Amino acid sequence: MSNSKNVYLFGNGKAEGTAGMKNLLGGKGANLAEMNLIGVPVPPGFTITTEMCIEYNKLGKEKTKEMLQAEVEAAIAAVEDIMNKKFGDSENPLLVSVRSGARASMPGMMDTVLNLGMNDVTVEALAKKSGNDRFAWDSYRRFVQMYGDVVLGMKPTNKEDHDPFEEIIDHLKEEKGYKEDLQMTTDDLKELVKRFKAVVKERLDKEFPTCPWEQLYGAVFAVFESWMNDRAIYYRKLNNIPEEWGTAVNVQAMVFGNMGDNSATGVAFTRDAATGEDLFNGEYLINAQGEDVVAGIRTPQQITIIGSKRWAELQNKTEEDRKNNFPSLEESMPEAYAQLNEIQQKLEDHYKDMQDIEFTIEDGKLWMLQTRNGKRTGAAMVKIAMDMLDEGRIDEKQALGRMEAGKLDELLHPVFQKEAMKNAHVLAKGLPASPGASTGQIVFFADTAEEWANEGKKVILVRVETSPEDLRGMNVAKGILTARGGMTSHAAVVARGMGKCCVSGAGTVLIDYKAKTMIANGKTFNEGDWISLNGSTGEVYEGKIDTQEAELSGDFAKLMAICDKHTRMHVRTNADTPKDARVARNFGAQGIGLCRTEHMFFEGDRIKAMREMILAEDLEGRKKALEKILPYQREDFEGIFEAMNGFPVTVRLLDPPLHEFVPHEEANQAEMAAEMGISAAVVKNRVDSLHEFNPMLGHRGCRLGITYPEITEMQTRAIIEAALNLKAKGVDAKPEIMIPLIGTLAEFENQESIIRATAEKVFAERNDKIEYMVGTMIEIPRAALTADKIAGKAEFFSFGTNDLTQMTFGYSRDDAGKFLPEYLDRNILKNDPFQILDQEGVGQLVEMGTAKGRSTRPNLKVGICGEHGGEPNSVMFCNKVGINYVSCSPFRVPIARVAAAQAAVQ
Ligand code: ADP
Ligand code: MG
Ligand code: MG
Repeated sequence: MSNSKNVYLFGNGKAEGTAGMKNLLGGKGANLAEMNLIGVPVPPGFTITTEMCIEYNKLGKEKTKEMLQAEVEAAIAAVEDIMNKKFGDSENPLLVSVRSGARASMPGMMDTVLNLGMNDVTVEALAKKSGNDRFAWDSYRRFVQMYGDVVLGMKPTNKEDHDPFEEIIDHLKEEKGYKEDLQMTTDDLKELVKRFKAVVKERLDKEFPTCPWEQLYGAVFAVFESWMNDRAIYYRKLNNIPEEWGTAVNVQAMVFGNMGDNSATGVAFTRDAATGEDLFNGEYLINAQGEDVVAGIRTPQQITIIGSKRWAELQNKTEEDRKNNFPSLEESMPEAYAQLNEIQQKLEDHYKDMQDIEFTIEDGKLWMLQTRNGKRTGAAMVKIAMDMLDEGRIDEKQALGRMEAGKLDELLHPVFQKEAMKNAHVLAKGLPASPGASTGQIVFFADTAEEWANEGKKVILVRVETSPEDLRGMNVAKGILTARGGMTSHAAVVARGMGKCCVSGAGTVLIDYKAKTMIANGKTFNEGDWISLNGSTGEVYEGKIDTQEAELSGDFAKLMAICDKHTRMHVRTNADTPKDARVARNFGAQGIGLCRTEHMFFEGDRIKAMREMILAEDLEGRKKALEKILPYQREDFEGIFEAMNGFPVTVRLLDPPLHEFVPHEEANQAEMAAEMGISAAVVKNRVDSLHEFNPMLGHRGCRLGITYPEITEMQTRAIIEAALNLKAKGVDAKPEIMIPLIGTLAEFENQESIIRATAEKVFAERNDKIEYMVGTMIEIPRAALTADKIAGKAEFFSFGTNDLTQMTFGYSRDDAGKFLPEYLDRNILKNDPFQILDQEGVGQLVEMGTAKGRSTRPNLKVGICGEHGGEPNSVMFCNKVGINYVSCSPFRVPIARVAAAQAAVQ
């Protein structure tokens, strides 16, 4: 180690590093080097490598200093040469900033220290040299404050404590009757330095360090130590950043934006980070330093005239007021602006991506202090990539690589109007279960939701949790709020399927069905009161906040076309209704991977027929009831097949346990009894007998079809008849009949023979035929383990990764909310396996099941249809293990298409 290079110089158009050396120099350091190399004015300095950070945390101060000293001294000498100043000099002192910078920008790391090298001697020299006392003392007091806060650790660690330095400033301003910092005189600033040092002495029982070298090593080591502070460790955990990365330290000659009215500091974006518009924009402050612009002490001004005019309009300022009091940089410092504009273009051309830049103007001269690829909204992400593709700066694969697939969500759902958000007041926070924004009047019951919606009202359905009985209410509601339940609760899954905004598990919301009230944030809300939900953040707002529909741009369509060109996997959708099927098809779904049939049994009068079937005493009774359901089912299938004309539709036979369909309340039982002409006691008896201790592992899936073959017969008939009816109309229906919850080959064979026999019967009756397939869902580990046998008969597999996750982990989806959050907090699980496919465990079953299945049937079609089908990491995994298609809820189709295309070009 001692022979290797630990310090990399940059300055005067030369640099020892490059943009490609982010691992060693951190993002900031690598780009400072690169900017030098392309001729952008950057104050000279040097970067101490990320490797030294790791060494430091192993070896400690003494050893590290020994290793670094010679290189640091040589580097400072090089900077002194370029700046023609001397570190710690009593006549012409060099001051530096000390800045942290890891590979990825990371909150939680040490804040930057500016003006390092200041002491009672150098401050006088700086004052004399600049002829500006106020500037020198302003720099000094800033330094003592920053060094005290970040290096000496005087910054308060909890919210209630005050920053001792800010308190001193406040006192002094109070004593003098000042309103603003700029009113402070040089003498006041001198007084501040004195008081600052005194508080350091008092708190730490040692003098504020006056030796610049001591200051320098103190700051460098503080950066290294901040890599191991709690905030940084926590952030790394959240973002899967390895500890071995370390952070670099950048030491850089100071340039001063606080030298007077011909100096300034600012931040800018080369394009609009919110909309993607190709418009240079940003903010600056005259006579200011460092983070003043973002600190909110003074109102920053806009950089360009056009930006300034737009700003004034939003602020209701007259052009007169704007020009005189808030002029743009373009107006106030036209020369510096012209340089800045040229450089921002140069940087964007060079990096071929939108840049987020930081700059300082010292007495009219422009210096660049940072550049990096700018963070942006989903809309800006798509627009910028498509624009840059058009401009010929990047190619299609690069454009795909620029997509964070999950961010497309923002584009697809309604959003709150910006203006309306201004006075928004958050009442509670739950899980962002299904994205989008919605506003409406509170209702607590599904039937009220329907009534009100019929009257043309907008409603938000508020429930402790939802069940299949609430489906119709959910369907008409603008949004859904539940107090209980996680990201895969009934409410969350159904809402995502419907593309409807949902906040689930807002635990602080108290719901009283009897009183029809909801208490949130100490306030009681009644039925009919307005609330608003943001399903993308989980926030619940008081009152009505207007929303607007998302508009899909031409750029979006272009992106989708590029995806199709490069993808290997297809994307299908999970859809149970013709409406969902159409939405998904518009988003580019190429078929349905999961059409659940149970929802079809809940609608309208069907639930009655279904209950009749379940409550029937004998086979005859059951068949009679099923006959009533058949036409409804057939009609549903016709709608769905038609919406998917030409694309395959995987229909899953009835899956949930029967008890979900029967009435549990006495009144409903009585009603049912009257309808069927039997006694309420018989109904109650039957309902009680259906009770299961563990319905998730109970009488459901193919177990139903095996014990009640007439259900499988009826469903098969509905599917085949629907397809034949459509064929007569020239519609190409491609049904794939899927048997749920298979664990053994024998189960499959049992159901398959019923399906095939029924289909043959219908073909004979109609004297016509269609192609169809019979396959199975793989969602029980045993099925994955014996996939080679099952594939002997099954024509396709669809991994139902929700159940497969449930059964592999042994976590009940309905109960996991009790412990999963804590598991995640304590890092026992890295991710919620119901959201992100557990590649290590469940993924192994998927991979193995696919391989085993294809060992028997090489052309076996394999898909996945859990919630994971629309989750980018999981989609990548599916591509890797050779799955043919993923299937996800309609609004996630575009996300899956991007992720699938990215996986294919990687
Ligand atoms: P962050 O990582 O929080 O962005 P930086 O290291 O970029 O922190 O520093 C914050 C700000 O401090 C910069 O944007 C710049 O305004 C100012 N700054 C840093 N180094 C210097 C310097 N050498 N001269 C003048 N200002 C500087
Ligand atoms: Mg910065
Ligand atoms: Mg299942």
